[in-house]
Amino acid sequence: MNRPFNFSAGPAAMPQEVLTEAAKDMLDWHGSGMSVMEMSHRGKEFIAIYEQAHADLRELLAVPDNFKILFMQGGGLAENAIVPMNLSRGGVIDFVVTGSWSLKSQQEARKYGTVHIAASNAADDHATLPEPAHWQLSSNAGYVHICSNETINGVEYHTLPDLKALGCEAPLVIDFSSHVASRPVDWSRVGLAFGGAQKNLGPAGLTLVVVREDLLGQALPICPSAFNYKTVADHQSMYNTPPTYAIYMAGLVFQWLKRQGGIAAMEARNQAKAALLYDALDSSQLYQNKVALNCRSRMNVPFFLRDESLNEAFLTGARAQGLLQLKGHKSVGGMRASIYNAMPLEGVQALVDYLQHFEKTRS
Ligand SMILES: *Cc1c(COP(=O)(O)O)cnc(C)c1O
Repeated sequence: MNRPFNFSAGPAAMPQEVLTEAAKDMLDWHGSGMSVMEMSHRGKEFIAIYEQAHADLRELLAVPDNFKILFMQGGGLAENAIVPMNLSRGGVIDFVVTGSWSLKSQQEARKYGTVHIAASNAADDHATLPEPAHWQLSSNAGYVHICSNETINGVEYHTLPDLKALGCEAPLVIDFSSHVASRPVDWSRVGLAFGGAQKNLGPAGLTLVVVREDLLGQALPICPSAFNYKTVADHQSMYNTPPTYAIYMAGLVFQWLKRQGGIAAMEARNQAKAALLYDALDSSQLYQNKVALNCRSRMNVPFFLRDESLNEAFLTGARAQGLLQLKGHKSVGGMRASIYNAMPLEGVQALVDYLQHFEKTRS
């Protein structure tokens, strides 16, 4: 079956192999007589699915033993409240604002702590990364929050900041929703990472949290039990019913990632895909990506047509070529191509061919 290439920012394209496998398992998972959706989360079948997914993710992301992997619900936005409820201790929280998502995170955190903006790229229209050496970090912050890949603005940290080297003892919290599993993570620099699954791991409904053990057990009294990381960790993510089907689907994605050669192999592919697309944009007279070269996202590539009156024709022509969901986020306009793990190089090549064809025929 020849499916179109789907450039959605999220919920995003899934590997076709994974969808085929899920379809095969739909009515009867491995001779159990049940769909995964119909299983008790405490039954042996689902526990096996959960344990495999958990172990595969730990292996893929090379998560050290002193970190807990939690499968939660609520998405990235709920984590904007859950993180401060668990880690702020009601005190100061440092934020580095680099685009729409980190901006949203600090707004929500104000309900649970005293927010200090340590750095911001707002003056550069969210198209640069403030140098960590120039961040105004607090001496007593509960944690420092960054969004390691800004899905809307297309800004990505290619190296995580080393807070210790900056004289800061606070743990680093990263919102890695939109680039998790696209590249390795340097866990020595991270206290907690969170992300919704629907960009790069699986369907919506599952939220991944990876948290260093020593950060557990300091939640504010108002923190709901189901969102208290220690409670969730003590119950192997089964304090309440976890998003069972989403965990199963993410588990299939993890196995697919292992068959692809793991995260290092995905990173090499993602580099090649991003280079192909950025080169095409940079060498054109019609299209433009405005993000600084040192922080261009490999996952989310926003671009603009210099003649915006062509936007509708561009999108209509793209759909006709089987290139879906290229419209940019409403807050920034223009176009955006999200090229997560599940987007093959051929999909990016098809987009580049279309970009060049459209430019030739329209200018
Ligand atoms: C999509 C996204 C979110 C929001 O996730 P929800 O699941 O909609 O709550 C948060 N942060 C980033 C970086 C995202 O890309």
